[in-house]
Formats: sequence, structure tokens, C-alpha cells
Amino acid sequence: MRTTLIAIAVAAGLFAAVPQAQAPAIQTPEAAFGHRMGADRELADWPGLQRYFEAVAAASDRVEIVDAGPTTEGRRLIGAIVSSPENLARLEEIRTNALRLADPRRLDEAEAMTIAERQPAIVALGMSIHATEIAATQTAPELLHTLATSNDPDVQRTLRDIVLILFPSLNPDGHVITVDWYRKWKGTEFEGSNMPWLYHKYVGHDINRDAFMMNMAENRSLSEFFYKRWHPQVFLTMHQMGPRGARYFVPPNLDPIDRNYDPLVWRTSGLLGHAMALALEEDGRTGVLQNALYDYYWPGYEDSAPLGHNTVTLLTEAASVRIASPITVAADQLTGGRGFPDHSPSTTFPNPWPGGAWTLRHIVDYNLSAARGFINGAARYRGELVRNFYRMGRKQVELGTKGGPFAFIIPPGQFDPHAARKLEELLLQGGVEIRRTLEPFRYRDTVYQNGADIVFMAQPFRAYAKTLLEVQQYPVRRLAPGAAVDRPYDVAGWTLPLQMNVRVDQVDQYFDPGPTTPVDKVTIPPGKVWGDTRRADYYVVDARGNAGSIAINRLVKTGAAVSFLTAPMPIQGYTYPAGSLLVLDAKGAREAVEKVANDLGLRATASTGRAPTSTHPLGRTRVGLYKPWVESIDEGWTRWLLEQYEFEFENIADADVRKGGLRQRFDAIVLPDIGAERMVGGHAAGTMPPAYVGGLGMEGADMLRQFVDAGGTLVTLDSSSELAVTLLGAPLRDATRGLSANDFFCPGSIVRLELDEDPLTFGVPRETAGFCSFNTAYEIVPRSSNGDAGVTTARIIGRYAKSNVLMSGWLEGEKAIAGKGAMIELKSGQGRAVMFAFRPQHRGQAHATFRLFFNAIHTARPSQQRQ
Ligand SMILES: [Zn+2]
Repeated sequence: MRTTLIAIAVAAGLFAAVPQAQAPAIQTPEAAFGHRMGADRELADWPGLQRYFEAVAAASDRVEIVDAGPTTEGRRLIGAIVSSPENLARLEEIRTNALRLADPRRLDEAEAMTIAERQPAIVALGMSIHATEIAATQTAPELLHTLATSNDPDVQRTLRDIVLILFPSLNPDGHVITVDWYRKWKGTEFEGSNMPWLYHKYVGHDINRDAFMMNMAENRSLSEFFYKRWHPQVFLTMHQMGPRGARYFVPPNLDPIDRNYDPLVWRTSGLLGHAMALALEEDGRTGVLQNALYDYYWPGYEDSAPLGHNTVTLLTEAASVRIASPITVAADQLTGGRGFPDHSPSTTFPNPWPGGAWTLRHIVDYNLSAARGFINGAARYRGELVRNFYRMGRKQVELGTKGGPFAFIIPPGQFDPHAARKLEELLLQGGVEIRRTLEPFRYRDTVYQNGADIVFMAQPFRAYAKTLLEVQQYPVRRLAPGAAVDRPYDVAGWTLPLQMNVRVDQVDQYFDPGPTTPVDKVTIPPGKVWGDTRRADYYVVDARGNAGSIAINRLVKTGAAVSFLTAPMPIQGYTYPAGSLLVLDAKGAREAVEKVANDLGLRATASTGRAPTSTHPLGRTRVGLYKPWVESIDEGWTRWLLEQYEFEFENIADADVRKGGLRQRFDAIVLPDIGAERMVGGHAAGTMPPAYVGGLGMEGADMLRQFVDAGGTLVTLDSSSELAVTLLGAPLRDATRGLSANDFFCPGSIVRLELDEDPLTFGVPRETAGFCSFNTAYEIVPRSSNGDAGVTTARIIGRYAKSNVLMSGWLEGEKAIAGKGAMIELKSGQGRAVMFAFRPQHRGQAHATFRLFFNAIHTARPSQQRQ
């Protein structure tokens, strides 16, 4: 392995000369990259970083390369393991010890303490998951070089006490995109400008908001690495923030905290945060802030998901420059933030920055100081970190044994088995144990059939499982008695069983379910086609849940005649609900139905005689997904979701829309969650290269109206619905418009929705949970011209519940939205718009409402050419 790496490094020209039969010298990053790390307008790119890391590993007895797995575009998440040569010689033993310490059920205290005597702390450091926050990637080679070459006894002692795993980038795909853009426009007026697209194939900035759902490869790789292979005791990630606030943030974080996590995690992050602050202060870095801006309440960040795994997490945030181009910030331009009203000295901000020039190298210097403090702190408290890691796990097991809750039960026979499978899969990927019952059992009045899956709370990662499965009650906090309540700043409710429409029963007391077996893989049993398939005139397929959409897409692709049954249909003792699929027999239909039933686990029946006539035809819908040049994360998520569920679609840009003729190309056009003003206006002239400025314009907006007039379906998600209302002159009023935060405040919570029976709601229960974040709510306003031809009419199909709207999280001013429209169909001309006042596809997490979005597409009317 080593020889190969050396050979690669030599071939890559990283070493000027390699002495015979001895380790090659370790080049400085400056020599390897041809510039000092963080030099103005210079960036180390991903191939260069990877080569450098591999070359250092090849030449140093303190460094090894580890591969944490693939990225979305097939690159590798590589890390350097840095430790003393003695530790590296027994690295596998150290790793195995970490696995043992992670599970106190199989390791008693005495043995754990014996292991802890010789066990270095495993410390992970991840750079620039947000790729435009690029300084940390530029810090990594210099940090690596120092640790690999320094003869300072302090450094050598430190390396005996820790195993550092240094990831030069947690988002290499994004790093490539960012460096390409920066280099392309360097030296022009657009140097350092924003990009007109996301710095990740799908999710851009949201790459660190996917840590529990693990839709993206990067997050699956990292979870596997953390929760199955290494169990770091500490994980620090380095970010950047806006240019005008503090220069640097280090923990402690701001409140609130999720009370599920062990108090030791907060004490330790405070300790190591202060170790970083101390090192920064010693090195003369001014403007360092603590106890402000950032909280860890939501568990979906890359650096908050590990908290429930007893890993202490920390983040740093540095003031940004324009990628690699310097900026100047005058003292009077400096601004505050949450828990940081201004820049006057305080205990959490004792040494303000006076303003002036700010460069990429400044950030690299701050990062290096912080990393030094972090690594030294972790080494000095090695014993505590290792022992407490074990003890936190043990405490979680004890808490779980006591109950309240004792377990969560996932019964068989779920409404949407695919969502249930995904839920169990993400729990397993997150290191949570699930057991399957082998016999029926009773808990109080409920009888559970065998095959119920149980998440017992007596497990070391109890806090993680519990926070994902329970209902959130966001803590009501006031900064002083009688002061106003501090409102949530990000997502306040995420309860996965609600978001995914999976029945999960919380059981508070001890119970014995009888014999169980561990679940290590979740599969859906193949579905069967009942009846005599050789003589069928038609087939009926039960298409409930999200797999129903895949079934529709696969069946229409085969050319089969497919429709929704609009009324329930009993066949041979089984009642197929409205929304089941009717497939007429034709050449290939039997095979298509059999395959769909088998592959997706859907029940189907072959039947003879006259096919039912209460149906709603389904066509092969051509979808256009609007992709603006003002990069939209929601567009990326929507694109990813459409791919997962096998829709045929293409992206359309502003110019495509303006060109018109949309009805010839598309049956449905989807507008992601983007405000109307931003869609129409786009980037202002002069802020971007000319190809990317301006949005749809009034002209493009009018083309969308013409598309609807000509029979197209416009699907608008959350804030883009405003455009549909305006464009089509819909008789609707947004009941949340103009309300103050005191009258209505919903920062990211799960609310109750009530749905009418309709082809747009088929496959979803009449009451379901929806994810809302600063959502809207519509009322129909009567108007005098009602009934005139050519006038847009509105029909509310889904409403916020009339009462008890909040299911999990935080909602103030329920009456502002209760009973009002959340999903609306507008009819206009020959076509329609399906409007969502909330986010039915939010971050690929809201499985409960995916189908509502998909149905809007399925039910789009095919154009004449296709019929
Ligand atoms: Zn960030």
C-alpha cells in the first residue's frame, strides 16, 4: 500500500527527489501547492489535497489514510489518521477498543477502566462540509504537515494521547464545484461571487441537514464510519459565517439543548471550546466569540447527530471572505447576532476585533490556533474523554431499563411499508438496535402480531433513537423571569414516525415481548398477484403510500392503460381502497403487474369481466422542474426526490421558460419553494456573470400562465404558491400575511392536516402530518364575477386541522391557520395549478406527504400529442 502511494506521489511530482531506501521527505504545503495555504486568491484543489494527504501518509510514520466511503458523485471521503508511531502500530486494537467502549452492555466497568488506561482519545476533525466555507480545507494540509513533522515534545506527547482523524473535506464534490467557479472568474469583476448553482449535486448547504435521514451518500458514509467503525469521542467541524460579525465562534453553544443527551457532552464541549478560545487568545486572535449564535437543539446536523451517540461535538465558525479574495470590514460595519447584541467586550467576547482587512490566511491562522487548542485539550483530558464515553453509554442503558419510555414498537402491517422500511433503515444506519418479535404479545390492551419491530431504550445510543422517535416539546425559555419567551431559531419538531407516517407506539413501562431476534436488514416481502392471471381482463393494484407512485411510473412506462379507482372495490374478500390502480389487460400487462407487485411488495388481484368505470386516468407525465440561477436547495431536494421515485423530468431554466411553448414540452411544471419576487427578478445585473442574471421576468411568468391556460398543471411548493395566486388571479387570501410573530410563528414543526378524498390525495390517509416552516394558509375569497368563463376557481383539498394543529415542535397562533387551506387546486383555462402552502417534500424527509406532491404530477393531463 505504502509503496504504491509513494509511487503515486512521485509520479505526481510531489517530491523533487526521493532518496534511495529511505522514507521520502515530507514537503511543506507551500512547496507542494506552490503557494502558502490561504494566500490571497489561491486555493488548493481536491486532487491536490488528496495527493498531498496521501504523500504525507506515505512518508510519515505518524500518518495513515482512511477511506470513510463514497460521496454523491463517487469521490472518496478520505481522512488522515494522525497519531504516534506506537499508536499507529496498534491502531486496529485501538479501534476495536473504541467499539467495545461504545457498548457497555458487553463490557463491565473494571475492564473498561483497564482499557481506558492505555486508550488514546479518538478525535475527529472535519473540514468545510459547506464547500464555500473553504478556509478549513486550506488549513488541513498545514495542520497535517505540522503534526507529521514537528519535533516539539508537546506535539509528540499529544500524539501519544490522541488518534486524530482529519478529514480535509467533508464535501469533496462541493469543493471541486467551488474551486472551479472561483478559478474561472478569478481576475474578473465576478471574482469571489456566489455561484448560480448549489455546491453539491443535490443539496448544497443542506448537506449538513441530512445527518439522521441520510439521503445523501456523504452522510451514509460518515455515519457508517462514526457509528460502526470508529466511535470518536470528540468531533469538531469547521465552518464559516457572515463577514461582519465576530471573527470566530467556538463553543459553548447557545441554548436550548435537547435534554436527551448526557450533561457530560455539554461540559466537555465547553471545556474543549475554552481550550480553543485560550489557544486563540494566546496567539493574539481577536474577535473570538462564545456562547452565542448557534445551538445544537435540532439533531440533523453533521455535528449534532453524533451527540445522541455520546460523541462530544463542537463547531467553529469563522468570518468569511469572498472565497479566497480578501475583504475589508470597517469597525462601524460590524454587526451582532443571537446572544451577541454588539461588539463591546464581555466574558464571552473579551477581545473585540477592531475592523480592517480580512483574508483567507487570517481564517487559516484562526483555524490553526483553534485546532491546536482543540487537540491539546483533548490530549490533556484523554482519560476523562475515554472513560466518560463509556460511562455515558452505560448511563443511557440504565435510563432505558428504567422506562419512560421503555421501548418504541413498530408494528407490522404499516399503511406505507416503504416509509416504515426507510425509518428502520436510518435507525440501523445510525447504530440503533432493533429487535423483531417471533411470537404475538400483548401490551395492555394492544395485541401485537409476531414480526413487530422493537427499539428498546436500554441501548447505548438511546438518546439518538429517543429524540428521533418521540414528540418534541420545544422548551419554553425566558432569559429572565417575566421576560419574553425565546423563540426557536431553526427546526423545532422532527418526530420521524409523524413525518414519515409510520405507526410507532411509545411504551413507557417494562414489558416482555417474548423471544426476539436482531434486525440487521429491513426488507419488504414481495407482493402477490391473486386470482387467475392467465384469464384476467384487468388487474387491481393496492397503491397506498409512496411505493404506489413508483408503481404508477413503472406501469405507465410500459404503455399499460392505468387509472385510479375512484371508489373502493371489494374483490374476493379484500377491499381495494379508492386510489388503487386499475390496469387493463393488454400485451405485457400481466408481466408488468407481476413485476411491480413482486418488486415493490404491493398486493394485486387479477380479475375477469367488465372493468370498473369509476376511474381517473393516469398518463405518462412529462415534468419540467424549474431551476433558477439563484441557487435553490429546495430545487435540489425536489430533483433528488423525483429521481428516487422514477419520474421522467427535465430541469428548465429561466430562458427555457421565457421562450414559451411549454405546453408542447410538458404536462406538469414544478416550481420549488422560492419566493415570487426572487423567481421573477433573479440575480441583479452586475452581481453575476450576465448569463445568470435576471429571473423569469414578467415574460416568463406569463409563459407559465399560458402553460396553464393550455391545459398544463403548475405545481407550486410552499412560497412559490404566491406566484400562482398572482399569475392566475386566484380568489385566495393568505391568512398569515402581515401577521406579526406574536400572531403566528411556526419555525419548522409538524402539523396536522385534514385531506378530502380526491385523486390528489389518493394513497394518503385522510388525516396526516405535514412539515411546516413559516408556511402560509389560504382562504377562498368570494368575488362578484364568480362563474364567469375564464375566471380562476379555487378548491381547498387539504386543510390545517380545525384544532390541535401542532403535532410536534412549536406553533404560536394556531388560530391563524386552523381549518384554512394547505393544499389547493386552482382551475384556470384548460389547466390548473396545485398549490401547497407547506413543504410536502421537505428535505426528502416528509414521507407522509410525498404522495400529495406526486399525485399532483400523476394527475396532470397529458397533452393532445401524447393521447
Ligand atoms: Zn457552515
